[in-house]
Amino acid sequence: MNAILEPLSLPPFSAITPASIEVALDAALTEYQAATDQVVDRRALGFDDIWMPVERAKNAVDALWSAVSHLKSVADNPELRAAHDMARARIVEATTRALQNRAYFDLLTAMAKTPGFATLDLADRVAIERRLRDCRLAGVALDTDARARFADISVELSQLSTAFGSAVVDATDAWSKQITDESELAGLPDAAKAMFRAAASAKGLDGWLITLQMPSVDAVLTFAENRDLRQTLYTAFGTRASDQGPHAGEYDNGPRMARILELRREAAGLLGFSDPVAWSLATKMAADSGEILAFLRDLAARARPSAERDLAEMRAFAASDLGIDDMQPWDMGFVGNRLRAARYAVDEQAVRRFFPVEKVIEGWQALLHRLFGIRLRARDDVDLWHTDATFYDVVGEDGLVFAGLYIDLHARAGKKGGAWMAEARPRLRSGNIVSHPVAYLTCNFAPRGGGDPSLLSHGDVQTLLHETGHCLHLLFTRVNRPSVAGVNGFEWDAVELPSQLMEDFAWDRDILTSMSGHLDTGEPLPAELFAAMLAARNFQSGLAVLRQIEFAMFDLILHLGTLGSDPMAVIGAVRDEIAVIRPPAWHRFPHAFAHIFAGGYAAGYYSYLWAEVLSADGFGKFVEAGLVDRATGDALREEILSRGATRSAAESFRAFRGRAPDNAAMLARRGLA
Ligand SMILES: [Zn+2]
Repeated sequence: MNAILEPLSLPPFSAITPASIEVALDAALTEYQAATDQVVDRRALGFDDIWMPVERAKNAVDALWSAVSHLKSVADNPELRAAHDMARARIVEATTRALQNRAYFDLLTAMAKTPGFATLDLADRVAIERRLRDCRLAGVALDTDARARFADISVELSQLSTAFGSAVVDATDAWSKQITDESELAGLPDAAKAMFRAAASAKGLDGWLITLQMPSVDAVLTFAENRDLRQTLYTAFGTRASDQGPHAGEYDNGPRMARILELRREAAGLLGFSDPVAWSLATKMAADSGEILAFLRDLAARARPSAERDLAEMRAFAASDLGIDDMQPWDMGFVGNRLRAARYAVDEQAVRRFFPVEKVIEGWQALLHRLFGIRLRARDDVDLWHTDATFYDVVGEDGLVFAGLYIDLHARAGKKGGAWMAEARPRLRSGNIVSHPVAYLTCNFAPRGGGDPSLLSHGDVQTLLHETGHCLHLLFTRVNRPSVAGVNGFEWDAVELPSQLMEDFAWDRDILTSMSGHLDTGEPLPAELFAAMLAARNFQSGLAVLRQIEFAMFDLILHLGTLGSDPMAVIGAVRDEIAVIRPPAWHRFPHAFAHIFAGGYAAGYYSYLWAEVLSADGFGKFVEAGLVDRATGDALREEILSRGATRSAAESFRAFRGRAPDNAAMLARRGLA
């Protein structure tokens, strides 16, 4: 067997070539289809007859895809990208076909009705129930006409989502502003100016080029003293892909949004749901739209007084210290930044010098040991993709290896930006052999090498802990069915529970002491610097939370359809209800809201706030126990992390916390209590 397909061993990265990917993919997809066909032909109803051959074949496809997509993310090149894109298209096609395989669906349904079904292991039963649900959500149970219509809608929706995202990208790229007089850039940091200069020279232009890419927009709106420049940029950015602004009508997403909403409504109806929200919630923890709206409205009522204070404080400061008497939306980032600097003098560069990466990793390993009794043991016999990467055996208290972890922490050419966790290998039993789950933890911290040590920001430390939380969800699994183990199949609006919970450990002084050591002196993070960071943590959090609520309510109400299907009317109504500040009438936020129109967040944007309640409340149990508490760590592992999707997130949470979630900890975390 081609080694990339072997789910019981680690991927042979140095041997993976575009040609080997194609050969392996042919073999894996052929086997997947053949295994399914044979099961359907045989029509035997035992778990080992129906489930295992297909799962084994699917695991080989997943093992291939995991290795290829990981390699493409961390060591990209044009040939690999082509092989990756080809593989993705074929795997998506095969996966969709499998979900819509009526014969296999009928066989699984019949099996779930046999007396033997109830005697299966919990994970086996849940895996089958989830599979049946996912097949139904893919339209498999519809009659012939409806199934054909559903398939057509799926294709059109996928095209519309892609077109929506492309219009945002094209509109973003279409606008730029050349600056030739440096005085117009007053207030901007040297790093931002260097970025603008690089953008100009890339186009063969003199001076500086301001673009609508996020780092450029952030820099101008936060630092530029030139108010006209801020207004110009804010206008261009806030009208992208719409009927307004400098490129009005050229990339307009308005008609696409209308069609997307119409089709989502029709598809939801075909599947028997009242609206797209009910459809979305079929795979989430929240029970219904009423529960979510009540949650968001309660949060809004609590955040609003604080947001009003934030705003009044900004207006007063803008007038008294910055000569801005009529603060406008394009002033808010700038005013907020100046106000923050005046209130809290936290020098980001000074903080970094306390966090050399080696010291952080040492403290990180110590934290994992204290919380869960585990040790990470680096191995030097594992095939890796780059010298930055390390593989660790994860060792339990009994001295036995129970999982593996790849980490690759530094930015470099050919590596995708951001930070993420991915599954390298699931926990798997095949005959007598159980293979350990293995995760990838990938970040983009400042590069190591060139003699300079890599220094992390405090945000980087939180990112490391966040992704660690996702990894532990997989590494601690005791579930033998990969489709319901770790993050897989876990309710989507609760998936950030372990990650955000782990993040909060980065706000404890003792933990930061063990993770820090000044580059020159070895001294840990000083108390006064930590106090300043803590004081600045919730700067303007009322405004920030209210903004998230505005997006979440807009997404939900638009998909419910209770206020009609005009996005501008719906966002206007939401702002009437909860906002403390409104953008100008020509502003077109929905037209670039790719999360819900081009990403996976439709009727799901509330998940950010929802999961924050779970994670903050879960973290509260550690706080109550004295923080780095082994018994609480074990409980988190036992009641939540080890169980994957074999019981609902709500039940797992209740088992861990001893009660249903309460939003008090989240409000306190945000300084809104
Ligand atoms: Zn996350």
